[in-house]
Amino acid sequence: MSCQEDHPAVSANHDSDRSCPDCNSNRVVTEWIDHRFPYGRGENAVELCARIPVRRCEECGDQFLDAEAEDLMHEAVCRHLGVMTPREVRDIRRQGGGLSRAEFARITRRGEATIGRWERGELIQNAAYDQLLYLLTFPENLIRLRQRAETLASPQSTATTCTRTAPDLAGRR
Ligand SMILES: [Zn+2]
Repeated sequence: MSCQEDHPAVSANHDSDRSCPDCNSNRVVTEWIDHRFPYGRGENAVELCARIPVRRCEECGDQFLDAEAEDLMHEAVCRHLGVMTPREVRDIRRQGGGLSRAEFARITRRGEATIGRWERGELIQNAAYDQLLYLLTFPENLIRLRQRAETLASPQSTATTCTRTAPDLAGRR
């Protein structure tokens, strides 16, 4: 199993926006490592690999992981499960002309809170929802669902269904 290779193994660049959680120093360097970690239980247990940044403080020697490492490990889990990563899920709304989460929730008929959890990686969408999300990476499908949401929202559509069902039932007697 190999990790993704799109990051340099070592980068000694100091990031001024990063500070040591221990001593607050800005002298933090980054080293990229291939991190192997277990995922799943029992028969489904596997070892996954992600290339993650390890931060090291040159002042006090403290080593730590941050949100970037967590995101990359989460992405490795998503790749293993064959589902879209949180970043890819977020990109769907962005390519749709910058849809708000509320608007995206209305169109997909999925709760706004759930979509937020998918986008932040707090929850991994199941395979069926992932298929839907994949289709929505094509803008024309987003347009179709939006049109459907508007049709469903109009009061006429439900009224039509009711009047049509009633005579059918009566005729069965
Ligand atoms: Zn430090």
